[in-house]
Amino acid sequence: MLKKILVANRGEIAVRVIRECQDNGIPAVAVYSEADRDSLHTLIADEAVCIGPGNPTESYLNMNNILQAALSTGCDGIHPGFGLLSENAKFADLCRENDIKFIGPDGDTISKMGDKSTARQMMMAAGVPVVPGSDGAAESTEEALRIAEEIGYPVLVKASAGGGGRGMRRADSSEELPEAMKQARMEAEAAFGDGTVYLEKLILNPRHIEVQVLADQQHHVIHLGERNCSIQRRNQKMLEEAPAFGLRSETRTKICQAAVLAAKCCDYEGAGTVEFVMDSQEHFYFIEMNTRIQVEHPVTEMVTGINIVGEQIRIASGIPLRYTQEDVQMKGHAMECRICCEDPLNNFSPCPGKVDFVHFPSGFGTRVESALYSGAVISPYYDSMVAKVITLGENRVETVRRMRRALGETVIEGPKTTQPLMQMILYNRKFLRGNYNTGFIGEELPELTSMVQTAGMLKE
Ligand code: ADP
Repeated sequence: MLKKILVANRGEIAVRVIRECQDNGIPAVAVYSEADRDSLHTLIADEAVCIGPGNPTESYLNMNNILQAALSTGCDGIHPGFGLLSENAKFADLCRENDIKFIGPDGDTISKMGDKSTARQMMMAAGVPVVPGSDGAAESTEEALRIAEEIGYPVLVKASAGGGGRGMRRADSSEELPEAMKQARMEAEAAFGDGTVYLEKLILNPRHIEVQVLADQQHHVIHLGERNCSIQRRNQKMLEEAPAFGLRSETRTKICQAAVLAAKCCDYEGAGTVEFVMDSQEHFYFIEMNTRIQVEHPVTEMVTGINIVGEQIRIASGIPLRYTQEDVQMKGHAMECRICCEDPLNNFSPCPGKVDFVHFPSGFGTRVESALYSGAVISPYYDSMVAKVITLGENRVETVRRMRRALGETVIEGPKTTQPLMQMILYNRKFLRGNYNTGFIGEELPELTSMVQTAGMLKE
């Protein structure tokens, strides 16, 4: 096994990884910014190194400072978590050059899958279904107009380097397409320093279904089943569940096989997620591969009993997978609610500040991943997600009931959070039927927020 691991992240995922290292008897080194001196990940690690000021470009994205911290503390592995440097091929290469194992695939795989138009081409060549669209990048507006004519409107212009739902624009006609191209290019250039875009047909109100895969250094690849992540606001996930409720079993088999094929065609190593959009007839199309641990990994851990972060560390240590595909069995139903410090009644504006008091739920089938504690300070520099509440039940009804109970027990005093909104989703009829799609929040948000308002009044 790796002997000492530096965790190049912060917040709940850094805490998750540090705990995992400690459970395996591996000392964990935290890195922290000046704003995170008293953060939970800094406090619970075996050692902690300050890597710069609060602004992430000077600390958590500062590759040299992080590598220096790893070298000076004698680490032989770096876990990048998600976001930040987790999908940075240059960082993975730098780790390798310094004889430090980057816990994830190599730089070449990261850069191929990170360039979404290249990933599309590789998937097409491997026989994984992709959304109809451009072969690779769409170089000019003329080319985009020609392709859109072929595949039919509406279309999505997407940034090759995209992530977090940025650099994506819809066009409903040839009149709208030139402006959508311009906007997507500009946003991608500003956010990722790369204005390359490609075209996909817009699948109307699809479900977002993704498959968790694990691949070892000995080229064994398995999948851990699928998740439904269709509760999204502005293409950002809010709630996820596993398995995807109501999916036909043939579709489940096919989509999981497609994900394994996707991982094989890029010679994948570690934990990864293959994302698809699925139409109402259960036709599914690859959209991207995330080459890192994901926020929603716990729902898969709960239904399979497989510790995905633990497996990441074993795989990075060169140990072959200890599960065959037949060993992977799903049991029950799991759900995750993300809680963000944002005001759902004020256009989700961020609400940083001091958390006066925190109480998290526990009990059978209940799990919380968070770095919050009473007195912690939420910094404006970082992502607003502060906790994930996860429940497991024998079936979906039990899981939803348990989630209502768990969120009901959750208390975060101080900043406003999305907790009450998440609670209202759990009473929504469409949600309870389980056949919702990515249009859900767009359609239901007014009703959900008015329920939050009413509930607030009743409390007073
Ligand atoms: P990002 O990397 O920015 O998260 P993705 O390609 O993963 O972008 O897409 C994010 C979300 O956008 C998907 O979950 C889905 O809701 C929506 N989306 C992406 N591509 C399409 C498409 N071709 N048709 C319909 N919705 C799409």
